[in-house]
Amino acid sequence: MKTIIIGGVAGGASAAARLRRLDENQEIIILERGEYISFANCGLPYYIGGEIKEKSALTLQTPESFMARFNVEVRILNEALEINTERKTVTVKDLRSETVYEESYDRLILSPGAKPILPDIPGINSDRVFTLRSIPDTLKIKNYIDKNSPRTAVVVGGGYIGAEMAENLKNAGIDVTIAELSDHLIAPLDFDMAADVHRYMIDNGIKLELNNGLKAVKETENGLTVSLDRGEISADMLIMSVGVRPESELAKKAGITVNDRGSIVTDRSMRTNIKDIYAVGDAVQVRNFITKEFTFTPLAGPANKQGRIAADNISGLSSGYSGTQGSAILKLFDMTVATTGLNEKSALACGIEYDKTYIYSASHATYYPGASNMSIKALWDKNSLRLIGAQIVGFDGVDKRMDVIAAAIRLGAKVTQLTELELCYAPPFGSAKDPVNMLGFVAENVVTGKVKQF
Ligand code: FAD
Repeated sequence: MKTIIIGGVAGGASAAARLRRLDENQEIIILERGEYISFANCGLPYYIGGEIKEKSALTLQTPESFMARFNVEVRILNEALEINTERKTVTVKDLRSETVYEESYDRLILSPGAKPILPDIPGINSDRVFTLRSIPDTLKIKNYIDKNSPRTAVVVGGGYIGAEMAENLKNAGIDVTIAELSDHLIAPLDFDMAADVHRYMIDNGIKLELNNGLKAVKETENGLTVSLDRGEISADMLIMSVGVRPESELAKKAGITVNDRGSIVTDRSMRTNIKDIYAVGDAVQVRNFITKEFTFTPLAGPANKQGRIAADNISGLSSGYSGTQGSAILKLFDMTVATTGLNEKSALACGIEYDKTYIYSASHATYYPGASNMSIKALWDKNSLRLIGAQIVGFDGVDKRMDVIAAAIRLGAKVTQLTELELCYAPPFGSAKDPVNMLGFVAENVVTGKVKQF
């Protein structure tokens, strides 16, 4: 048996490793258009900001290490141009030699990822306008900064990557403005929770232009004039970070079903509509774990898990993907922002009758030095009491509280069951009544009518 995997980063590399662990004998080939495989996408902003010092830290594997460890052949700088589903071959271009060849497969896994959205507006192709997806994108930004010492930057889009880039550009000594079309940063937060983030970003010297979308970019003698819906900003560079769209042209051309947004459609086993072809990662449509509606939630955890599931099914095991919950976390200077499940906007859009509460709890026993408070907001289904989403903004200990809540949501917990969780406690780490328990206590008071919220 021979499996070809298109795309050698999160989903693709994960699929290859699992395939090999399940089968010593099959031939596995990864085709990767870029120069790197299995690189640390999520670490890219930190190399630009200087937190990650060595470029080598971004590459987790090389073709040689993948061969040595997994006996998987990795062909970097090899782009899949076409899939011939009748003949079961892939037409591939070796980008170094410019030669084109065909490679046959018994099974094919697509993990081509997503690409940054670039709106069709004047000036967007300027050399001073950047996007961030790959190591070459990162080096382009880093080299530009090292060579030109820009003093000012505009980041368009205040999502997770935009906010991370703003912090890292600031850390590189650049004066940063974030221009965001909506009324708040970090879309999975509700406005009330984002307000804390806004204040903190401003305190850290980041300028915010909220409700102010990008209209045009103009090159000037010394830099850029960035036109927003309201007003103009001069900047030396601009980072476009307004989201990504699935890289699904190859699949579409081969007759693989894609949805209206261009996401590849698969079943729970990650099978597409074409026999023996699987697809995983940012390129595929997923179900929202809570609402069961189809959605596009491009994250590394789901991509890795789906790669493993595709490999399981190819190897004769029966594995299914149960949906994406959208658990995500972000470091902003010393602040941590984490989200999971639905926010109010998405709960309303799905017509879920929900209730919510907030707590403001210390990260560990306040008599032990260094405790800081975190704001937690949680939503639950009013009828079933099932937890459906949470948002936390704070400093120390946000990550572990969110992971506990995310796990509780995954296991279908009621908000009142958070009262029962027995979590680790010693003064440097938490409190005898952990913030997650406190959330349960407060919610229980609301649910049982002891407290009326207004
Ligand atoms: P990718 O990892 O993007 O891999 C796709 C690969 O396919 C690419 O290398 C591409 O070159 C290759 N390819 C595409 N078409 C072809 C072709 N025709 N032939 C050959 N090769 C092809 N997620 C998180 O959960 N947490 C984070 O903190 C986080 N931070 C991020 C920060 C940044 C800057 C970026 C860009 C992403 C971040 N993500 C994060 C998202 C995460 O990286 C993606 O969800 C994940 O990498 C998706 O995996 P994938 O395998 O679908 O695609």
